[in-house]
Amino acid sequence: MECRPTLFLNPPSWQGFDGGAGSRYQAKREVRSFWYPTWLAQPAALVDNSRLVDAPADDLSVKDVLKIAIDYDVIVIHTSNPTLRGDALLAEALKNQKPSTSVGLVGAQAAVLPEITIGASEAIDWVGRKEFDFTCKDVALGRSLPEITGLSYRDGGRIIHNPERALIHNFDELPSVMDVYKRDLTVENYAIGYLKHPYVSHYTGRGCPAQCTFCLWPQTVGGHQYRAKSPGAVGREMAHAKTLFPQVQEFFFDDDTFTAYAPRAREIAVEMGKLGVTWSCNARANVSYETLKTLRDNGLRLLLVGYESGSQAILDNIKKGVSIEQAKRFTADCHKLGITIHGTFIVGLPGETRETIRQTIEYAKELDLFSIQVSLAAPYPGTELYRQAMENGWFREGDLVNEAGQQIAALEYKDLSREEIFAAVEKFYKSYYFRFRPISRIVKTMLRDKDVMKRRLREGAEFFRFFQLRSA
Ligand code: SF4
Repeated sequence: MECRPTLFLNPPSWQGFDGGAGSRYQAKREVRSFWYPTWLAQPAALVDNSRLVDAPADDLSVKDVLKIAIDYDVIVIHTSNPTLRGDALLAEALKNQKPSTSVGLVGAQAAVLPEITIGASEAIDWVGRKEFDFTCKDVALGRSLPEITGLSYRDGGRIIHNPERALIHNFDELPSVMDVYKRDLTVENYAIGYLKHPYVSHYTGRGCPAQCTFCLWPQTVGGHQYRAKSPGAVGREMAHAKTLFPQVQEFFFDDDTFTAYAPRAREIAVEMGKLGVTWSCNARANVSYETLKTLRDNGLRLLLVGYESGSQAILDNIKKGVSIEQAKRFTADCHKLGITIHGTFIVGLPGETRETIRQTIEYAKELDLFSIQVSLAAPYPGTELYRQAMENGWFREGDLVNEAGQQIAALEYKDLSREEIFAAVEKFYKSYYFRFRPISRIVKTMLRDKDVMKRRLREGAEFFRFFQLRSA
Protein backbone atom coordinates (compact mmCIF):
# COMPACT_ATOMS: atom_id res chain seq x y z
CA MET A 1 0.00 0.00 0.00
CA GLU A 2 1.30 3.46 -0.83
CA CYS A 3 1.44 6.24 1.74
CA ARG A 4 -0.55 9.42 1.17
CA PRO A 5 1.53 12.62 0.92
CA THR A 6 2.21 13.41 4.58
CA LEU A 7 3.62 16.55 6.17
CA PHE A 8 5.26 16.33 9.60
CA LEU A 9 5.15 19.80 11.05
CA ASN A 10 6.90 21.50 13.91
CA PRO A 11 4.54 24.49 13.78
CA PRO A 12 5.36 28.21 13.84
CA SER A 13 5.45 29.57 17.34
CA TRP A 14 6.55 32.54 19.39
CA GLN A 15 9.65 34.25 18.05
CA GLY A 16 12.68 32.55 19.59
CA PHE A 17 10.65 29.68 21.09
CA ASP A 18 13.17 27.02 22.02
CA GLY A 19 12.74 24.18 19.56
CA GLY A 20 8.98 23.82 20.00
CA ALA A 21 7.27 20.67 21.20
CA GLY A 22 10.29 18.50 20.57
CA SER A 23 12.41 20.23 23.20
CA ARG A 24 12.46 19.24 26.85
CA TYR A 25 11.60 22.70 28.11
CA GLN A 26 9.11 24.39 25.83
CA ALA A 27 9.85 28.03 26.49
CA LYS A 28 11.86 30.96 25.25
CA ARG A 29 15.42 30.59 26.48
CA GLU A 30 17.86 33.29 27.49
CA VAL A 31 19.76 32.62 24.29
CA ARG A 32 18.09 31.68 20.98
CA SER A 33 18.58 27.95 20.42
CA PHE A 34 17.01 25.20 18.37
CA TRP A 35 16.83 21.47 18.94
CA TYR A 36 16.28 19.06 16.06
CA PRO A 37 12.69 17.87 15.54
CA THR A 38 13.84 14.30 16.16
CA TRP A 39 10.48 13.02 17.37
CA LEU A 40 8.88 13.96 14.04
CA ALA A 41 11.86 12.93 11.94
CA GLN A 42 11.44 9.30 12.99
CA PRO A 43 7.91 8.79 11.59
CA ALA A 44 8.89 10.95 8.61
CA ALA A 45 11.62 8.38 7.91
CA LEU A 46 9.01 5.59 8.07
CA VAL A 47 6.55 7.23 5.66
CA ASP A 48 7.35 7.38 1.93
CA ASN A 49 6.05 10.51 0.36
CA SER A 50 6.65 12.58 3.49
CA ARG A 51 8.24 15.91 4.26
CA LEU A 52 9.42 17.32 7.59
CA VAL A 53 9.03 21.05 8.12
CA ASP A 54 10.59 22.75 11.14
CA ALA A 55 8.95 26.16 11.00
CA PRO A 56 10.72 27.85 13.98
CA ALA A 57 14.21 26.84 12.84
CA ASP A 58 13.49 27.83 9.22
CA ASP A 59 11.73 31.02 10.32
CA LEU A 60 8.51 30.11 8.52
CA SER A 61 5.26 31.95 9.20
CA VAL A 62 1.76 30.44 9.22
CA LYS A 63 1.32 31.80 5.69
CA ASP A 64 4.49 30.02 4.52
CA VAL A 65 3.36 26.78 6.14
CA LEU A 66 -0.10 26.97 4.53
CA LYS A 67 1.55 27.33 1.13
CA ILE A 68 3.56 24.15 1.71
CA ALA A 69 0.66 22.24 3.30
CA ILE A 70 -1.65 22.53 0.29
CA ASP A 71 0.25 19.65 -1.37
CA TYR A 72 -0.31 17.21 1.49
CA ASP A 73 -3.26 14.98 2.44
CA VAL A 74 -2.15 14.17 5.99
CA ILE A 75 -0.62 16.74 8.36
CA VAL A 76 0.93 15.70 11.67
CA ILE A 77 1.59 18.56 14.11
CA HIS A 78 3.87 18.11 17.14
CA THR A 79 2.02 19.93 19.89
CA SER A 80 2.81 20.71 23.52
CA ASN A 81 1.00 22.05 26.55
CA PRO A 82 2.08 25.69 26.07
CA THR A 83 1.45 25.70 22.31
CA LEU A 84 -1.84 23.77 22.09
CA ARG A 85 -4.05 26.85 21.61
CA GLY A 86 -1.92 28.18 18.75
CA ASP A 87 -1.63 24.72 17.19
CA ALA A 88 -5.43 24.33 17.24
CA LEU A 89 -5.76 27.64 15.34
CA LEU A 90 -3.26 26.39 12.79
CA ALA A 91 -5.27 23.15 12.40
CA GLU A 92 -8.32 25.31 11.63
CA ALA A 93 -6.43 27.31 9.01
CA LEU A 94 -5.24 24.07 7.39
CA LYS A 95 -8.78 22.68 7.29
CA ASN A 96 -10.21 25.92 5.90
CA GLN A 97 -7.66 25.86 3.13
CA LYS A 98 -8.23 22.19 2.23
CA PRO A 99 -11.13 20.52 4.09
CA SER A 100 -10.14 17.00 2.98
CA THR A 101 -6.83 17.19 4.91
CA SER A 102 -6.48 14.71 7.76
CA VAL A 103 -5.02 16.72 10.66
CA GLY A 104 -3.46 14.93 13.63
CA LEU A 105 -1.62 16.10 16.75
CA VAL A 106 1.14 14.15 18.52
CA GLY A 107 3.50 14.62 21.47
CA ALA A 108 3.52 14.39 25.25
CA GLN A 109 0.41 16.60 25.53
CA ALA A 110 -1.52 14.29 23.18
CA ALA A 111 -0.26 11.21 25.04
CA VAL A 112 -1.44 12.38 28.45
CA LEU A 113 -4.50 14.47 27.64
CA PRO A 114 -5.87 13.06 24.36
CA GLU A 115 -9.44 14.21 25.08
CA ILE A 116 -8.41 17.82 25.80
CA THR A 117 -5.96 17.83 22.88
CA ILE A 118 -8.44 16.65 20.27
CA GLY A 119 -11.11 18.81 21.90
CA ALA A 120 -9.03 21.94 21.32
CA SER A 121 -10.63 22.30 17.88
CA GLU A 122 -13.05 20.47 15.60
CA ALA A 123 -10.37 20.81 12.93
CA ILE A 124 -8.27 18.18 14.73
CA ASP A 125 -9.27 14.77 13.37
CA TRP A 126 -7.10 12.54 15.53
CA VAL A 127 -4.27 12.43 18.05
CA GLY A 128 -1.48 9.85 18.20
CA ARG A 129 -0.86 8.81 21.82
CA LYS A 130 2.44 7.62 23.37
CA GLU A 131 4.98 6.48 20.73
CA PHE A 132 3.30 7.69 17.58
CA ASP A 133 5.71 6.60 14.83
CA PHE A 134 3.73 3.62 13.48
CA THR A 135 0.40 5.27 14.35
CA CYS A 136 1.29 8.07 11.92
CA LYS A 137 2.41 5.53 9.34
CA ASP A 138 -0.93 3.71 9.58
CA VAL A 139 -2.81 6.99 9.06
CA ALA A 140 -0.56 7.83 6.11
CA LEU A 141 -1.29 4.41 4.61
CA GLY A 142 -4.98 5.27 4.74
CA ARG A 143 -5.92 2.50 7.20
CA SER A 144 -9.33 2.94 8.73
CA LEU A 145 -9.06 4.99 11.95
CA PRO A 146 -10.97 2.52 14.21
CA GLU A 147 -8.33 -0.11 13.43
CA ILE A 148 -5.27 1.97 14.32
CA THR A 149 -3.87 1.29 17.80
CA GLY A 150 -2.59 4.23 19.84
CA LEU A 151 -5.04 6.59 18.11
CA SER A 152 -7.89 8.75 19.47
CA TYR A 153 -10.22 10.10 16.82
CA ARG A 154 -13.36 12.05 16.22
CA ASP A 155 -16.46 10.10 15.16
CA GLY A 156 -19.27 12.61 14.63
CA GLY A 157 -19.75 14.24 18.04
CA ARG A 158 -17.90 11.48 19.92
CA ILE A 159 -14.21 10.99 20.64
CA ILE A 160 -13.11 7.37 20.43
CA HIS A 161 -9.92 6.12 22.11
CA ASN A 162 -8.51 3.01 20.45
CA PRO A 163 -6.41 0.55 22.53
CA GLU A 164 -2.79 1.48 23.39
CA ARG A 165 -0.06 0.71 20.90
CA ALA A 166 2.82 -1.45 22.17
CA LEU A 167 6.14 0.37 22.65
CA ILE A 168 8.85 -0.19 20.06
CA HIS A 169 11.58 -2.56 21.21
CA ASN A 170 13.62 -3.30 18.11
CA PHE A 171 15.23 0.06 17.43
CA ASP A 172 17.69 -1.43 14.94
CA GLU A 173 14.74 -1.90 12.57
CA LEU A 174 13.85 1.79 12.56
CA PRO A 175 15.17 3.74 9.57
CA SER A 176 17.73 6.43 10.38
CA VAL A 177 16.53 10.02 10.72
CA MET A 178 19.74 11.27 9.09
CA ASP A 179 18.40 11.01 5.53
CA VAL A 180 15.33 13.03 6.57
CA TYR A 181 17.59 15.68 8.13
CA LYS A 182 19.58 15.82 4.92
CA ARG A 183 16.49 16.00 2.70
CA ASP A 184 14.36 18.44 4.70
CA LEU A 185 16.42 20.45 7.21
CA THR A 186 19.21 23.00 7.09
CA VAL A 187 21.73 21.91 9.71
CA GLU A 188 23.26 25.40 9.86
CA ASN A 189 19.95 26.65 11.32
CA TYR A 190 20.43 24.61 14.49
CA ALA A 191 22.48 26.13 17.27
CA ILE A 192 22.80 25.52 20.99
CA GLY A 193 25.09 27.77 23.03
CA TYR A 194 27.22 25.00 24.56
CA LEU A 195 27.53 22.86 21.40
CA LYS A 196 29.84 23.50 18.48
CA HIS A 197 28.22 24.84 15.35
CA PRO A 198 26.87 23.32 13.21
CA TYR A 199 25.84 20.29 15.24
CA VAL A 200 23.53 17.34 14.62
CA SER A 201 21.56 15.67 17.41
CA HIS A 202 19.28 12.65 17.47
CA TYR A 203 18.11 9.78 19.66
CA THR A 204 19.72 6.32 19.52
CA GLY A 205 17.04 5.10 21.93
CA ARG A 206 14.18 6.20 24.15
CA GLY A 207 13.22 5.88 27.80
CA CYS A 208 15.08 6.46 31.06
CA PRO A 209 15.23 4.11 34.05
CA ALA A 210 15.43 7.06 36.50
CA GLN A 211 12.28 8.30 38.18
CA CYS A 212 12.74 12.11 38.37
CA THR A 213 9.29 13.46 39.20
CA PHE A 214 9.49 16.56 36.97
CA CYS A 215 10.86 14.90 33.83
CA LEU A 216 8.54 14.90 30.84
CA TRP A 217 9.53 12.27 28.29
CA PRO A 218 9.96 9.10 30.40
CA GLN A 219 6.66 9.74 32.19
CA THR A 220 4.67 10.47 29.05
CA VAL A 221 6.03 8.95 25.84
CA GLY A 222 9.32 7.09 26.32
CA GLY A 223 8.74 5.07 29.53
CA HIS A 224 11.26 3.91 32.11
CA GLN A 225 12.91 1.17 30.13
CA TYR A 226 15.84 2.33 28.00
CA ARG A 227 15.13 0.82 24.55
CA ALA A 228 17.89 1.51 22.10
CA LYS A 229 19.82 0.69 18.95
CA SER A 230 22.74 -1.71 19.20
CA PRO A 231 26.25 -0.15 19.22
CA GLY A 232 26.94 -1.62 15.76
CA ALA A 233 23.80 0.01 14.33
CA VAL A 234 24.72 3.35 15.94
CA GLY A 235 28.22 3.06 14.47
CA ARG A 236 26.83 2.48 10.96
CA GLU A 237 24.35 5.34 11.34
CA MET A 238 27.04 7.76 12.49
CA ALA A 239 29.37 6.74 9.65
CA HIS A 240 26.52 7.58 7.28
CA ALA A 241 25.89 10.89 9.11
CA LYS A 242 29.55 11.83 8.83
CA THR A 243 29.35 11.36 5.05
CA LEU A 244 26.08 13.27 4.76
CA PHE A 245 27.22 16.23 6.90
CA PRO A 246 30.94 16.86 6.41
CA GLN A 247 30.46 20.43 7.75
CA VAL A 248 29.18 19.26 11.15
CA GLN A 249 31.52 20.03 14.04
CA GLU A 250 29.86 17.89 16.68
CA PHE A 251 27.28 15.10 17.06
CA PHE A 252 25.00 15.05 20.09
CA PHE A 253 23.23 11.93 21.43
CA ASP A 254 20.04 13.34 22.89
CA ASP A 255 18.84 10.06 24.45
CA ASP A 256 17.28 10.87 27.83
CA THR A 257 20.26 9.34 29.57
CA PHE A 258 22.78 8.05 27.07
CA THR A 259 24.99 6.72 29.88
CA ALA A 260 22.20 4.75 31.62
CA TYR A 261 23.71 1.48 30.44
CA ALA A 262 27.48 1.94 30.71
CA PRO A 263 28.67 -1.09 28.67
CA ARG A 264 26.59 0.08 25.70
CA ALA A 265 27.82 3.67 26.04
CA ARG A 266 31.42 2.41 26.03
CA GLU A 267 30.84 0.25 22.95
CA ILE A 268 29.31 3.16 21.07
CA ALA A 269 32.21 5.36 22.15
CA VAL A 270 34.62 2.88 20.52
CA GLU A 271 32.57 3.10 17.30
CA MET A 272 32.78 6.91 17.47
CA GLY A 273 36.51 6.69 18.10
CA LYS A 274 36.92 4.71 14.86
CA LEU A 275 35.10 7.49 13.00
CA GLY A 276 37.28 10.18 14.56
CA VAL A 277 34.39 12.58 15.22
CA THR A 278 33.70 14.92 18.13
CA TRP A 279 30.57 14.05 20.08
CA SER A 280 28.64 14.91 23.25
CA CYS A 281 25.67 13.47 25.12
CA ASN A 282 23.31 13.65 28.09
CA ALA A 283 24.53 11.95 31.27
CA ARG A 284 23.53 11.45 34.88
CA ALA A 285 26.12 12.52 37.45
CA ASN A 286 26.89 8.94 38.43
CA VAL A 287 29.10 7.66 35.59
CA SER A 288 32.28 5.89 36.74
CA TYR A 289 35.76 7.25 36.06
CA GLU A 290 36.60 4.23 33.85
CA THR A 291 33.55 4.76 31.64
CA LEU A 292 34.19 8.51 31.43
CA LYS A 293 37.76 7.81 30.39
CA THR A 294 36.68 5.41 27.61
CA LEU A 295 34.19 7.99 26.36
CA ARG A 296 36.76 10.80 26.47
CA ASP A 297 39.43 8.68 24.76
CA ASN A 298 37.00 8.15 21.88
CA GLY A 299 36.02 11.72 21.10
CA LEU A 300 33.57 12.73 23.86
CA ARG A 301 33.81 16.51 24.35
CA LEU A 302 30.89 17.57 26.56
CA LEU A 303 28.31 16.12 28.91
CA LEU A 304 24.94 17.71 29.54
CA VAL A 305 24.20 16.92 33.18
CA GLY A 306 21.06 17.57 35.23
CA TYR A 307 22.27 18.51 38.74
CA GLU A 308 18.93 20.21 39.51
CA SER A 309 19.60 21.28 43.12
CA GLY A 310 22.27 21.68 45.78
CA SER A 311 19.90 20.46 48.48
CA GLN A 312 19.94 16.72 49.15
CA ALA A 313 16.43 16.98 50.58
CA ILE A 314 15.15 18.40 47.27
CA LEU A 315 17.00 15.73 45.28
CA ASP A 316 15.25 13.14 47.46
CA ASN A 317 11.88 14.87 46.99
CA ILE A 318 12.21 14.71 43.21
CA LYS A 319 13.61 11.12 43.25
CA LYS A 320 16.77 12.18 41.44
CA GLY A 321 18.55 9.00 42.46
CA VAL A 322 21.99 10.67 42.47
CA SER A 323 23.40 12.17 45.67
CA ILE A 324 25.30 15.44 46.03
CA GLU A 325 28.42 13.45 47.00
CA GLN A 326 28.17 11.27 43.87
CA ALA A 327 27.68 14.35 41.70
CA LYS A 328 30.74 16.07 43.20
CA ARG A 329 32.92 13.00 42.62
CA PHE A 330 31.66 12.64 39.04
CA THR A 331 32.34 16.33 38.35
CA ALA A 332 35.86 16.11 39.74
CA ASP A 333 36.48 13.08 37.48
CA CYS A 334 35.25 15.01 34.43
CA HIS A 335 37.52 17.96 35.31
CA LYS A 336 40.46 15.58 35.64
CA LEU A 337 39.73 14.04 32.24
CA GLY A 338 39.14 17.40 30.54
CA ILE A 339 35.47 16.69 29.78
CA THR A 340 33.44 19.91 29.53
CA ILE A 341 30.15 20.03 31.46
CA HIS A 342 27.01 22.03 30.78
CA GLY A 343 25.07 21.70 34.03
CA THR A 344 21.35 22.26 34.37
CA PHE A 345 19.61 23.44 37.53
CA ILE A 346 15.97 24.01 38.44
CA VAL A 347 14.60 26.49 40.94
CA GLY A 348 11.20 26.07 42.54
CA LEU A 349 11.17 22.30 43.02
CA PRO A 350 9.24 20.88 46.01
CA GLY A 351 11.01 21.75 49.25
CA GLU A 352 12.60 24.93 47.83
CA THR A 353 13.27 27.76 50.29
CA ARG A 354 15.38 30.90 50.16
CA GLU A 355 18.10 28.90 51.89
CA THR A 356 18.06 26.01 49.40
CA ILE A 357 18.27 28.49 46.50
CA ARG A 358 21.36 30.00 48.16
CA GLN A 359 22.79 26.48 48.68
CA THR A 360 22.21 25.57 45.02
CA ILE A 361 23.95 28.72 43.77
CA GLU A 362 26.95 27.98 46.03
CA TYR A 363 26.90 24.34 44.92
CA ALA A 364 27.02 25.34 41.25
CA LYS A 365 29.97 27.63 41.94
CA GLU A 366 31.77 24.86 43.79
CA LEU A 367 31.20 22.43 40.91
CA ASP A 368 32.80 25.03 38.63
CA LEU A 369 31.09 23.94 35.40
CA PHE A 370 31.91 25.42 32.02
CA SER A 371 28.34 26.62 31.51
CA ILE A 372 25.01 26.36 33.28
CA GLN A 373 21.31 26.58 32.53
CA VAL A 374 18.77 27.58 35.16
CA SER A 375 15.12 26.72 34.63
CA LEU A 376 11.94 27.27 36.58
CA ALA A 377 10.24 24.12 37.84
CA ALA A 378 7.55 23.27 35.28
CA PRO A 379 4.71 20.93 36.23
CA TYR A 380 3.82 19.36 32.88
CA PRO A 381 0.63 17.28 32.80
CA GLY A 382 1.47 13.58 33.03
CA THR A 383 4.35 14.05 35.46
CA GLU A 384 4.40 13.20 39.16
CA LEU A 385 5.32 16.81 39.86
CA TYR A 386 2.09 17.94 38.18
CA ARG A 387 0.04 15.53 40.28
CA GLN A 388 1.75 16.71 43.49
CA ALA A 389 1.31 20.35 42.52
CA MET A 390 -2.41 19.89 41.92
CA GLU A 391 -2.92 17.91 45.14
CA ASN A 392 -1.00 20.38 47.30
CA GLY A 393 -2.26 23.60 45.74
CA TRP A 394 1.23 24.70 44.59
CA PHE A 395 -0.03 25.43 41.07
CA ARG A 396 -1.59 28.88 40.97
CA GLU A 397 -1.65 29.33 37.19
CA GLY A 398 -2.80 26.93 34.50
CA ASP A 399 -0.16 28.05 32.04
CA LEU A 400 3.52 27.26 31.88
CA VAL A 401 4.53 30.20 29.69
CA ASN A 402 3.26 33.76 29.27
CA GLU A 403 1.78 35.31 26.09
CA ALA A 404 5.31 35.91 24.78
CA GLY A 405 6.34 32.27 25.21
CA GLN A 406 8.54 32.98 28.25
CA GLN A 407 8.53 30.50 31.08
CA ILE A 408 6.70 31.70 34.20
CA ALA A 409 7.07 30.53 37.79
CA ALA A 410 4.10 28.17 37.85
CA LEU A 411 4.63 26.80 41.36
CA GLU A 412 4.69 28.48 44.76
CA TYR A 413 4.99 27.27 48.33
CA LYS A 414 3.85 28.43 51.75
CA ASP A 415 7.13 30.22 52.45
CA LEU A 416 8.29 30.99 48.92
CA SER A 417 6.31 33.06 46.44
CA ARG A 418 6.24 32.76 42.65
CA GLU A 419 7.89 36.17 42.43
CA GLU A 420 10.83 35.05 44.57
CA ILE A 421 11.25 31.85 42.54
CA PHE A 422 11.10 33.84 39.28
CA ALA A 423 13.67 36.36 40.51
CA ALA A 424 15.99 33.55 41.63
CA VAL A 425 16.78 32.58 38.02
CA GLU A 426 18.39 35.93 37.20
CA LYS A 427 20.13 36.06 40.56
CA PHE A 428 21.50 32.54 39.95
CA TYR A 429 22.89 33.41 36.52
CA LYS A 430 24.45 36.65 37.70
CA SER A 431 26.00 35.09 40.82
CA TYR A 432 27.45 32.33 38.69
CA TYR A 433 28.70 34.14 35.61
CA PHE A 434 29.76 37.51 37.01
CA ARG A 435 32.97 36.10 38.44
CA PHE A 436 36.49 35.98 37.12
CA ARG A 437 36.74 32.20 36.46
CA PRO A 438 33.65 31.68 34.22
CA ILE A 439 34.28 34.93 32.34
CA SER A 440 37.94 34.13 31.71
CA ARG A 441 37.01 30.62 30.52
CA ILE A 442 34.52 32.03 28.02
CA VAL A 443 36.93 34.73 26.84
CA LYS A 444 39.62 32.10 26.23
CA THR A 445 37.33 30.11 23.91
CA MET A 446 36.50 33.36 22.08
CA LEU A 447 40.12 34.26 21.54
CA ARG A 448 40.88 30.82 20.11
CA ASP A 449 38.19 30.94 17.42
CA LYS A 450 36.71 33.89 15.48
CA ASP A 451 33.38 32.11 14.88
CA VAL A 452 33.03 31.34 18.58
CA MET A 453 33.79 35.03 19.29
CA LYS A 454 30.92 36.12 17.01
CA ARG A 455 28.48 33.62 18.52
CA ARG A 456 29.36 34.45 22.12
CA LEU A 457 28.96 38.19 21.49
CA ARG A 458 25.53 37.60 19.94
CA GLU A 459 24.52 35.25 22.77
CA GLY A 460 25.77 37.73 25.37
CA ALA A 461 23.61 40.48 23.85
CA GLU A 462 20.58 38.10 23.76
CA PHE A 463 21.22 37.10 27.36
CA PHE A 464 21.07 40.70 28.61
CA ARG A 465 18.11 41.57 26.39
CA PHE A 466 16.20 38.55 27.73
CA PHE A 467 16.54 39.69 31.33
CA GLN A 468 15.71 43.29 30.43
CA LEU A 469 12.46 42.14 28.78
CA ARG A 470 11.72 39.75 31.60
CA SER A 471 11.91 42.45 34.24
CA ALA A 472 10.06 45.03 32.09
S1 SF4 B 1 17.76 11.09 34.69
FE1 SF4 B 1 17.31 12.80 33.29
S2 SF4 B 1 16.11 11.92 31.62
FE2 SF4 B 1 16.10 10.41 33.29
S3 SF4 B 1 14.21 10.82 34.42
FE3 SF4 B 1 15.86 12.02 35.42
S4 SF4 B 1 15.83 14.05 34.40
FE4 SF4 B 1 14.66 12.62 33.12
